[in-house]
Amino acid sequence: ARCIVFCRPLVRYYASAPGPHALVFLEHREGVIDNGSLSAVTAAQQLGGQVTGLVVGGPEQVKDVVQKAKKLKGINAVLHSSSSQYTVPVVENVSPLLEKLLASGSPFTHVVSAHSSSAKSLLPRVAAKLDAPAVSDITSLEHDSASNATTFTRPIYAGNAIATVRAPPSIPLKFFTVRSTAFSAAPTEEGSEAEDKALEPVEVADPTVLHIKTDLTKSDRPELGAASRVISGGRALKNAETFNATLEPLADVLGAAIGASRAAVDAGYADNSLQVGQTGKVVAPEMYMAIGISGAIQHLAGMKDSKLIAAINKDPDAPIFQIADVGLVADLYEAVPELVQKLKQT
Ligand code: FAD
Repeated sequence: ARCIVFCRPLVRYYASAPGPHALVFLEHREGVIDNGSLSAVTAAQQLGGQVTGLVVGGPEQVKDVVQKAKKLKGINAVLHSSSSQYTVPVVENVSPLLEKLLASGSPFTHVVSAHSSSAKSLLPRVAAKLDAPAVSDITSLEHDSASNATTFTRPIYAGNAIATVRAPPSIPLKFFTVRSTAFSAAPTEEGSEAEDKALEPVEVADPTVLHIKTDLTKSDRPELGAASRVISGGRALKNAETFNATLEPLADVLGAAIGASRAAVDAGYADNSLQVGQTGKVVAPEMYMAIGISGAIQHLAGMKDSKLIAAINKDPDAPIFQIADVGLVADLYEAVPELVQKLKQT
């Protein structure tokens, strides 16, 4: 099956690649490889073997992304496939390509991706078809080449416990998605020009899922998942107007992204894409400031690994103070404007 998909020179490359060989699904947007995928490359490298990147996209998109992928530190080769069916990579249309690539005879031992909404649908889908184990949202891994066992840790119960799980050595192919806050991003310019090969797309003759449109929230602020500073607001912000009027000046002066608790999102103060927590984004910035957020475990699950946590809350018993490095018991409507003023003076 491999010969149908690959061109000849890569067969030689694979033949000289013993030990673990990871295939990393590289997601991209507007010509830029997602940060989560860069963390997935770092995780794949920790297996201790070869790392091949896979870029899938529309005919106009793939070339640029492949050039960037070839320069990623830790990548040994880049496979790519383009088709108009992949312009918006609907997982139902991409999975046949991955399935064919991994069919018996493939050199890959692990398939790795970010724990993104798209990849966490794609990988288990293909794993199930190939009867292989899929472990999601891992925060560390250890591969024993002698026994071919891979052991992972992953948070469970909203991060209140860590499960250690092992993909059995007897199964040659293992899938896992990576929590990006647990692995640093692979450097984008330090690699040594990996080789690349095109794969024939595997087009779905009669797609059952069609992409109609994507509505993206546009913002000039740093992206929540990648920002080094995050200012988050909770239910105490009352409504969308006060949420923005109170938090934006502070975010501006600190060059921070804005986040929100689920209560704030559910009440319509902030967009869904800003939700931090168990059912929102997981972030680990240099500084996370929780403003008018009580600190429910589901919120903590999304931010507790931040390097410095600051909280402003008028209730001294608010649970957020149990994990905050810096806490201010105050009315946010007095404290935040004062903080903005002081920061502007520095
Ligand atoms: P509240 O708990 O109401 O807290 C508001 C805080 O503001 C209080 O501590 C109060 O003292 C303080 N306050 C009020 N007025 C002022 C003022 N003037 N100045 C200063 N402080 C003030 N939540 C998330 O955030 N993210 C998730 O991903 C998430 N996922 C969930 C998944 C499940 C399955 C479930 C069951 C719940 C989930 N939740 C999530 C909801 C979570 O349990 C909490 O309900 C939510 O986090 C509360 O949001 P909050 O802290 O903004 O509101």
